[in-house]
Amino acid sequence: MSNRRKFLKNTLLSSALILPGTMSPSLSLRAKGKKEKHKPLILSTWNHGMAANDKAWEVLGETGSIVDAVEQGVMVTESDLTNLSVGLQGLPDREGIVTLDASIMKGDGSCGSVCFVRQVKHPISLARKVMEDTPHVMLAGEGARQYAMELGMPIEKEEMSPAAKKAYEKWKEKSEYKPIINIENHDTIGMIGMDKDGNLAGSCTTSGLAYKMHGRVGDSPIIGAGLYVDNEVGAATATGLGESIIKVCGSFLIVELMRQGRTPQEACEEAVKRLVRKNKGIEGIQAGFLAMNKDGEHGAYAVHPGFNYAMHHQGGKSLIDSKSKF
Ligand code: ASP
Repeated sequence: MSNRRKFLKNTLLSSALILPGTMSPSLSLRAKGKKEKHKPLILSTWNHGMAANDKAWEVLGETGSIVDAVEQGVMVTESDLTNLSVGLQGLPDREGIVTLDASIMKGDGSCGSVCFVRQVKHPISLARKVMEDTPHVMLAGEGARQYAMELGMPIEKEEMSPAAKKAYEKWKEKSEYKPIINIENHDTIGMIGMDKDGNLAGSCTTSGLAYKMHGRVGDSPIIGAGLYVDNEVGAATATGLGESIIKVCGSFLIVELMRQGRTPQEACEEAVKRLVRKNKGIEGIQAGFLAMNKDGEHGAYAVHPGFNYAMHHQGGKSLIDSKSKF
């Protein structure tokens, strides 16, 4: 577990952290064992989700657009120079090259994604352009970068951030290629949100698995794996070892389980159980899911302890520890 997460877990987060402002009614309701229902509602993976949700909440208030909210929310994380798992400052692949994956989806089924893309500052905005302005769903690698350049999007010089470079140099001392046993370095931001009228959208963006093989693509840009949204049912997003999530079509699975009547919490738990069954050696792997249904209920579950998520709704905002299988 990263020091950052360990610190949070050991100090404030044994149950939930209530941020300055009002006491979240959601927590008092949960304490009484009642079902929480919130509309609008915004959820994001990990503690970096708090700042992203702040922005998304502001954008939703200003524009009323849930898709604007989930795009601009995760752009905060993509721009955060201290973040080593999202955006161009993230940890590189084993060749020392940073490649990014992102996806965006609306509740009407529209979706777009980009993968294995270099130098593009905001892959989530590029994914949105793929969704809205092309007949395609996914653009990869150089083609995606060229499209960003055509659109005049910010393209950065190809160099690692100082923190990523330092970490990479250290990793190179042994160059151990063992992503499969690595619980660390999984911090994708996945955001799912619903406006007051029940319209859903989601976004997911990452620099992917640290020190991955050049060309490796994870779950985050794969619609149905890292993200799935359906206005008829709800939305789900994933974080953790992408290979394990892709094998069970994790986010799609959760939405389909909710369609069959499971609560978001039950659906996340079932998806983790299946992921564990389908991934030998999962004892060393972290993966987690976050979901909401169209009634405004939410849930989360992970393979291991340490996964947390940010929740914003009209009654307040909180950072919540997910339960886990092990
Ligand atoms: N899911 C991402 C991937 O496998 C990694 C992460 O969650 O940090 O690329």
